[in-house]
Amino acid sequence: MGFKISVIEGDGIGPEIMKATIKVLELLNEKQGLGLEFKHVDAGDKAKEKYGEPLPNTSFEVIRNSHCCLKGPIGETAGSVIVPLRMKLDLYANIRPAVTLPSIASLFKDVDILIVRENTEGLYKGIEDKTDEYAFSVRVITRKKTERIAEEAYWRAAKRKRKVTVVHKANVLASCRLFREVCLEVSRRHPEIQTNELYVDNAAYQLIKNPLQFDVILVSNMFGDILSDEAAAVVGSLGLCPAANIGERFAIFEPVHGSAPDIPKEYGNPTAMMLAAKMMLEWLGEKHGEKKLFKAAQIIWKSICDVLREKKVRTPDIGGNSRTEEFASEVMGKISLYV
Ligand code: NAD
Repeated sequence: MGFKISVIEGDGIGPEIMKATIKVLELLNEKQGLGLEFKHVDAGDKAKEKYGEPLPNTSFEVIRNSHCCLKGPIGETAGSVIVPLRMKLDLYANIRPAVTLPSIASLFKDVDILIVRENTEGLYKGIEDKTDEYAFSVRVITRKKTERIAEEAYWRAAKRKRKVTVVHKANVLASCRLFREVCLEVSRRHPEIQTNELYVDNAAYQLIKNPLQFDVILVSNMFGDILSDEAAAVVGSLGLCPAANIGERFAIFEPVHGSAPDIPKEYGNPTAMMLAAKMMLEWLGEKHGEKKLFKAAQIIWKSICDVLREKKVRTPDIGGNSRTEEFASEVMGKISLYV
């Protein structure tokens, strides 16, 4: 079976880390007959310059008609691309693993956290206004969407260490009180899973103080956005952390990070982007019952771990001075040994 993958290369370091990732996928495609077919689409800052809008309808149609989308980081127009894509395609679950990788200087060893973030409402719902004198953004929390993301978190926890931490600010916000109530209702359907709750400010503190206490973090949209950057710092770099935006029928895979405009374009760490591609292969594999996609995902994981363990080639964010493409060549060298 063939899979059409729509590809948004992104801005800043995006094109380089995407080029590196596509090379890895193409190598696996060729050696393992994965049936991946890539279709590049314009979206982001460059699309805005070219067409006057960051997500032209023609791009949206190509994305919608693909099996899934691999997305690089976008720059200033990110909010006008990924947020509408999440809403229009109902990609309700934002899944963000933060895992300690081999030989990476991190605050703690053996961190393995899965942030499960509601992706379609909360403060990013877009109900807002701004004048010179006042501005507001409405935070929308609904029972239906909270229940859906909570079930997702418990389903994932059942396959991991069976612990869910519900994060909110229910002592202050009415919207958080509903989020908390519904999450705790769902927790009662899953007595085999341990549940605890933390106020978001304490959760931010605990993430640095003792990240080993966390398994799955169940959280609303903006709090999850913030905590996942913090979790990336705990495991060593934003350049190491992937994300999946998952709905019933479609999914978009991207790094947690943005376009990193403060570093030279050719020095971005492609690990997060490559691990997003790994998550994509796993999602496709599960959806279509294709074992070889899982195998390819494992090969990406093992090859990246080998390269990091050897410490020969490292991008500056993790203490080296290698370029994106040098890191990618090493990963491809390792892949060749596994295929
Ligand atoms: P950022 O994530 O781009 O960068 C934060 C810090 O992490 C920077 O110091 C950067 O150099 C570093 N970093 C990030 N990714 C890295 C990588 N792969 N390798 C090495 N270092 C890396 O966040 P920001 O600076 O707040 O935002 C920059 C732009 O990205 C903004 O225009 C923002 O709108 C956009 N953004 C897009 C997305 C998205 O596309 N989903 C997400 C976040 C930010």
